[in-house]
Formats: sequence, structure tokens, C-alpha cells
Amino acid sequence: MIKETNWRFRKAWATACCAVGIGKLLCPTCRADVEDKYKCSECGQTWKREELKYAGALFHDFRRTAARNLVRQVFLYLWP
Ligand SMILES: [Zn+2]
Repeated sequence: MIKETNWRFRKAWATACCAVGIGKLLCPTCRADVEDKYKCSECGQTWKREELKYAGALFHDFRRTAARNLVRQVFLYLWP
């Protein structure tokens, strides 16, 4: 249950970071960017959302108050 919640949070976090441009989803084999519908721009493989690698800002990076506004934006995106 905790694991499931954590996964849901990480997924939402990754989605939000991609939306505001501080993270991106990558092809798990060639590490290239994926386009819409999780299609790799390099090898053309279409992936499932949970198979993709996430690269970018981690929630752990946002403990400090300097990033408070950014975090707020992300949360507003998630739960408007
Ligand atoms: Zn690829």
C-alpha cells in the first residue's frame, strides 16, 4: 500500500516536472527523449509509462525554501 502510494506520487511528480520543464522521460534502452504517447525519438519503440526512465528534478531536491515557489507550481498543476 505504501509502495503503491509512493509509486503514484513519483509518477505524478515526474509528470508534473515534465510539464513545467524541469524533468523528462527517457527511453530505457537508448536514453533518448520520448515523444507523445511514449514513443522513443531514437529507436522508435513505444513504451509503457512505467517502463520509462525519469531524469530531472527529484522531490528530495526541493526541501529547501528557495524552491518553494516551484514546488507550489507543481502542486497547483497536480491538484488545481
Ligand atoms: Zn529508444
